Amino acid sequence: MRKKTRLIHGGADIDKNVGAMSPPIYQASTFKQNGVGNFTYEYARTGNPTRDAVETLIADLEKGKRGFAFASGMAAIAAVMDLFQAGDHILLTDDVYGGTFRYMTKILNRRNIDVDFVDSSDLDKVREGIREETKAIFIETPTNPLLKITDIKELANIAKEKNVLLIADNTFNTPYWQNPIDLGANIVVHSATKYLGGHSDLVAGLVVVDDEKLGEEIHFIQNASGGVLAPNDSWLLVRGIRTLGIRMEEIESNTQKIVEYLVDHPKVGKVYYPGLPEHPNRDIHAKQSGGFGGMVSFTVESEEKALDVLNKVRYFSLAESLGAVESLISLPAKMTHASIPRERRLELGIEDGLIRISVGLEDVEDLIEDLDQALQ
Ligand SMILES: *Cc1c(COP(=O)(O)O)cnc(C)c1O
Repeated sequence: MRKKTRLIHGGADIDKNVGAMSPPIYQASTFKQNGVGNFTYEYARTGNPTRDAVETLIADLEKGKRGFAFASGMAAIAAVMDLFQAGDHILLTDDVYGGTFRYMTKILNRRNIDVDFVDSSDLDKVREGIREETKAIFIETPTNPLLKITDIKELANIAKEKNVLLIADNTFNTPYWQNPIDLGANIVVHSATKYLGGHSDLVAGLVVVDDEKLGEEIHFIQNASGGVLAPNDSWLLVRGIRTLGIRMEEIESNTQKIVEYLVDHPKVGKVYYPGLPEHPNRDIHAKQSGGFGGMVSFTVESEEKALDVLNKVRYFSLAESLGAVESLISLPAKMTHASIPRERRLELGIEDGLIRISVGLEDVEDLIEDLDQALQ
């Protein structure tokens, strides 16, 4: 089965009772048992057929053994972190999503789980960061907002050698372009709120694991702590995923045109996009992923200029989040990364005049004209 076909025919078979082409929404909390202990479904926190539909679909798309759906990306990440215990150490990519940074530094520390952040695009730094107690490496590739790239396969080899789990947040590139499990990762997490849902109408998270034992553990945690995705939202997520292929293809083509425009613009400084020939790890990304994605960051001379651009755009909506049909624009230093002290931000390369865009599905000519009038 090829990629677009898998988005539509992957996962569970269509409804066996009446042949509905869309999975039925089982808006039920409990299920009648045929006899004590004789049932298919028992209680909807433990399992619900509509949630099952999205869970089997994502397991299929990420080439894993089992999938799990949660009420948000953060709930999915938190459930994965429940695999670890006091004394364990986790190593993370240094510019991980802000919410992940907050969870790791403000919640995990309460349980005496230690974390460190390294530039995971530099594998020597990762090697240096691994300790006796290290149980997992958690990466994002590409990262946000600087689109840094980590070599998943090489890192998976290091993880195997050191006997630690490799966890990849695949939100930015999506299973349509990149499958970390195929490259040796053990666990994939998603904020399905972004490209997978794709329409700015849903908050959801997903976990996929590469083996049955991890699957049993995550299911135990999911059922025990209960942050599950509701039946309605599970249905909406399946609906969003069906069109992921055509959305990602169109976003790819729009993004490449916008990047070409930005690179040539006299008022634009640096452009961050993994598809640019001057991106230091372009080849690594091209080897492990089928597309460069719809996220681009670029700098203008100052924060004032950036604020001016944000004020003037008409089709790019000023909003957090990404990966939707509509194009979005944001100022990381004042929005997603505001909680990071300015000095640390500058160290990471997040300048005051750094603008991040998430390219959507509008006509690309309109998007370029919009940026053009805003940059004037
Ligand atoms: C948004 C996001 C998350 C968190 O997901 P929510 O659905 O907002 O809880 C995690 N990782 C990345 C890369 C994200 O962009």
